[in-house]
Order: sequence, then structure tokens, then C-alpha cells
Amino acid sequence: MSRAFACAALVALGIVSSAGRVSTQGPTQLVRSADARTAPAILTTHPWLQARLNGIARRSGLWREAVGNVARTGRRAIVITSDEVVVAESTFGPAVGAFDDAVLAEIAPVPHHDTRVDVVLVVVNLPLIERIQRRTSALPAEVEGDLDRILVHEVYGHALPYLLAGDLSGRCADPLPGQQAHEACAIQRENAVRAELGLNRRTDYGLHDLTLIRRSWQ
Ligand SMILES: [Zn+2]
Repeated sequence: MSRAFACAALVALGIVSSAGRVSTQGPTQLVRSADARTAPAILTTHPWLQARLNGIARRSGLWREAVGNVARTGRRAIVITSDEVVVAESTFGPAVGAFDDAVLAEIAPVPHHDTRVDVVLVVVNLPLIERIQRRTSALPAEVEGDLDRILVHEVYGHALPYLLAGDLSGRCADPLPGQQAHEACAIQRENAVRAELGLNRRTDYGLHDLTLIRRSWQ
């Protein structure tokens, strides 16, 4: 899933303007304190997400190559959980809820100077994933497999192309209406890394590809 948050939402989050308060707690400070020469290209404060990101990097050469190329640019993907997104007060009226609580994950390039992109936010709805896990009694390995699928799609499929390009021209899209899933940029990238990870190939855009979702329907 990908949805470039509307600029107004980013402003409401305090990401692109000083109009609001800081939107994210830990990760924002991570970015401020990170040495551009040494900080990793993918930042997260969440140990579970960090462990999954480390595991993907160990097993995927494509992932490591792309992340290494982004690291040299000083650009960053910041992976946060949905409960780390704090909607800030805005001078534009009531705060805008920028993350749909029913969505498993989304990305948001943070443009500045109109089109330049140095940071992409990746929001993973871990509270929702954990609720589904509890309800379905999914095994830890099943949840981890789904987390890997989600991270590969959002980070490798969507976030890294923006960061490699350094501007909004790096958009790698989900299937357009009428387009086969395997023809879409983000799914093609996702499947290349899935093959290295030994995960099943994604053949459609539906969520039944995820074990947690299939279990929740049973
Ligand atoms: Zn997507």
C-alpha cells in the first residue's frame, strides 16, 4: 500500500512546517542527531522492526545494495509504528488524522523545495498486527513472515526508489486500475526480494497474501 500523504496532512503532523508540533517522537530525534556519514539509511526505534529489517538485510543482496546506495546519499527511511505518529496542532484548523487505523502500513515521502525527497516515513500499524495476532493465535513465525512481506513492500517497493532518486520522480507505484499486479513497479521490486528471502511470489494486490489476514477470515 502506498499513499503519499497530502501536504496538508504533513503540515498537520508538523513534518514540513513549523506550524505544528513535532510529529514523531524518537525517530525525529534520531534524524536530528544522526551523522549523515555514518547513520544507517533505514532508521527505526522499534526493536522488533529493527530485528526484521536486519534479517531481511542479511538474506537479500538486492536489499543490501539499494540500502548501501541510499546510505551514500545521506537520505533516510524512518520506520515507525502507527502509535508513534502524533497528530500535531495546526494553524490550518483541526488536526488531520494522517494515518488510517485500519491500514496495515503506509509510506509518506517528505518533500521539501517542492519535489526533493531526503526522508521517507514508513508507518507500520503494529498495534493492528498484534491485535490480529492475538485474535487468530497466529504463530510468531507467521507474524514475522508477514512483517517481512510488509516491510519489503513498503521499504524496498516504495521508500527506497524515492530515496535513490532523491525526488518525487522516484515514485514506484502499486497496480493502477486495470493493471496486473505483477506489472506494477512496487510489486515487481517486492517479488525480487521475496525470491531472495524464500517467500512466496505475490501475484495480486489483495491482502489475502498475508497469513494473518487469511487466518482472520477463517
Ligand atoms: Zn504499495
